[in-house]
Amino acid sequence: MIEITTIGAGGGSIARVDAGGLLQVGPESAGSRPGEVCYGAGNRRPTLTDAHLVLGRINAARPIGGALTRDRNGVAGVGRGMSRILPARTQYEASVPLVIVGAGAAGLVAALAAKAEGMAPLVLERDKVPRGSTSLSAGLVPAAETRWQRAAGIEDTPGQFAADIMSKADGLPDPDAVASVTEAVGPALEWLADAHGFEFSVITDFRYPGHSALRMHGLPSRSGGELIDRLREAVERQEIDLLTDAHVVSLHATHDGRITGLTLRRPDGTEAEIGCGALILACNGYGGARNLVGRHIPSLADAPYFGHPGNQGDALLWGEALGAATRDLSGHQGHGSIAHPARAFSDQVESPDRK
Ligand SMILES: Cc1cc2nc3c(=O)[nH]c(=O)nc-3n(C[C@H](O)[C@H](O)[C@H](O)COP(=O)(O)OP(=O)(O)OC[C@H]3O[C@@H](n4cnc5c(N)ncnc54)[C@H](O)[C@@H]3O)c2cc1C
Repeated sequence: MIEITTIGAGGGSIARVDAGGLLQVGPESAGSRPGEVCYGAGNRRPTLTDAHLVLGRINAARPIGGALTRDRNGVAGVGRGMSRILPARTQYEASVPLVIVGAGAAGLVAALAAKAEGMAPLVLERDKVPRGSTSLSAGLVPAAETRWQRAAGIEDTPGQFAADIMSKADGLPDPDAVASVTEAVGPALEWLADAHGFEFSVITDFRYPGHSALRMHGLPSRSGGELIDRLREAVERQEIDLLTDAHVVSLHATHDGRITGLTLRRPDGTEAEIGCGALILACNGYGGARNLVGRHIPSLADAPYFGHPGNQGDALLWGEALGAATRDLSGHQGHGSIAHPARAFSDQVESPDRK
């Protein structure tokens, strides 16, 4: 009789550095699809086979099983460039109570809100000038029961807004998450107007697909460029620290997953470590990382991405490395509005307001 013991260290076992700084292999596996990074089918987390390839133990010129990528450097880059969790440091040269990663609309509004509560946030942005997908957008914000709607005689409620979202998304979203957004966004716009002078108005000649009421609000130019510029100016007026050219590459965490700080990298390759009491990840989604799009939305793997290229899914990767549960990662809204090959953007719906 032969006793067989199965151990979870096949070629597809995924390797990671845990919160204590130790190398862990498996039990999570890349499986047969998408498989190892070196098969080029969308996985971005390094496996044992990838490590053997990088170390030269597997010859890329003579692939086992056929379709191995020849791009050894590309495979090695996955491990290096990956958003990492490093062990908590015992002390930092500089520490701040709150760090916000990402200076798009989410990060800058979070910074203004934190400042209003008496905190002193530090915003870190990888680009030289904050732009994000926010600057590429039309800058139109859906909100219900606002004073601008009331002035225009438009009847609307957060509940009606939530019902529209649930209906458009086939009832799939978490109703609590939908309710919290639909209830918060109107007061948020009015607060930006009152506290920071944002000149919002409601758009009365364009009804967004799926909306049962006119509820898109925008600044005078109806552009995301104006929205991000006004937010940046408000942050500057509030004397909030905004550090650009600061790409956050690693978070530091204790054994039980509490974040103590982070590592940022500057364009010249130098790095700095900053401690933080709390952290907000406002670095958008994974749209700029084609391999993550392929993993979570296979049908869009080859679709053109028209958002900000800096959105590489860092928050998602950090969360996964910390063992966070994920859900609804395939949720997306596709727009058939890019002209190829010119890559000029044309609006989804004709409107004099948006020309
Ligand atoms: C063409 C287009 C049109 C759109 N139109 C609309 C619209 O009219 N209405 C609407 O509601 N939505 C619209 N959207 C969607 C909307 O733009 C986004 O949902 C929104 O701007 C996201 O804001 P954000 O702050 O989360 O992300 P972003 O504005 O993308 O900001 C994220 C920032 O994080 C930075 N970052 C990422 N990773 C790191 C890191 N590791 N370290 C440091 N910084 C990092 C990025 O450089 C970026 O500046 C549109 C999107 C596109 C692409």
